[in-house]
Amino acid sequence: LGMPSVPTKIAERRRSRQIQVGSVAVGGDAPVSVQSMTTTRTSDIGATLQQIAELTASGCQIVRVACPTQDDADALSTIARKSQIPVIADIHFQPKYVFAAIEAGCAAVRVNPGNIKQFDDKVREIAKAAKEHGTPIRIGVNAGSLDRRLLQKYGRATPEALVESALWEASLFEEHDFRDIKISVKHNDPVVMIEAYRQLAAQCDYPLHLGVTEAGPAFQGTIKSAVAFGALLCEGIGDTIRVSLSAPPVEEVKVGNQILESLNLKQRGLEIVSCPSCGRAQVDVYKLAEEVTAGLTGMEVPLRVAVMGCVVNGPGEAREADLGVASGNGKGQIFVKGEVVKTVPESKIVETLIEEAMKLAEQMEAA
Ligand code: SF4
Repeated sequence: LGMPSVPTKIAERRRSRQIQVGSVAVGGDAPVSVQSMTTTRTSDIGATLQQIAELTASGCQIVRVACPTQDDADALSTIARKSQIPVIADIHFQPKYVFAAIEAGCAAVRVNPGNIKQFDDKVREIAKAAKEHGTPIRIGVNAGSLDRRLLQKYGRATPEALVESALWEASLFEEHDFRDIKISVKHNDPVVMIEAYRQLAAQCDYPLHLGVTEAGPAFQGTIKSAVAFGALLCEGIGDTIRVSLSAPPVEEVKVGNQILESLNLKQRGLEIVSCPSCGRAQVDVYKLAEEVTAGLTGMEVPLRVAVMGCVVNGPGEAREADLGVASGNGKGQIFVKGEVVKTVPESKIVETLIEEAMKLAEQMEAA
């Protein structure tokens, strides 16, 4: 009897055509990128640029800004010029803002065809302007604003309805020889969303922007997004992701990056491997893990730090990590690269780990 074969890696990436969103390539063999969206009034240029700077610092690679008014449209060129990362204008209802965003030098424009009346008639002009400026278009289909014709045909926003809407809109652009497109088909139900993206992935080669729409407050939205993106990314589907949370956008970026790091689609930064604690714990693991995390947050180098409550799994995990502690008898054995470098009293564990982490970081940076 042979051993059952168990997958040990995620599926090969789906081959999509590559587009260029400003300085960030999306699709093809480009790394999966993380996006977010500002919550400021776009017309408030200072506040918007401030938030974009915060998002950039937290690891956001592409940012989207809403454009519901003429004042917002007027702000786009300054924002696009001064932002450190590519800016995508998000347009619903008013096609005139699509042209304004293209003219303003936005890195891409997201259009929601379901929200633009007689969209089909506008495609020729949009394709022409976008082509002239080299501006990609995201066709952003959303369950909450699905084209009425498709809602009537399918009765509700099924995966088939979302995909048909997206591919129909893409075909309108294709008629004008415009293929500088990425697509999203968002739904608030991860099961529907996963199926929609699977179908879409099989039927076109456009890069795909993953999103669970209206995912909810941070806890629920994080889990919904992690489950949905995790399933799709494991199948090789997805070229850029946006986690939607009813929480500050910096949180979306942290979650997005953590999802990619969890699947090794992005180099891991600081990773704390801490045990959940149990009746054997000889130290307050939660407190220790929190203090170590707080002390090391912001370190740029990838570092795996094990914080273990007792000697059952402690030495093993601590040895596997770059750095670790296994606690017991009011003391902590400190491991660096698999070797016990010292044993310190419990009160000195955190500062010793931080000290050793700094030394390791210096060595890594010098190497
Ligand atoms: Fe419990 Fe020790 Fe495992 Fe932590 S390392 S969960 S304290 S057995």
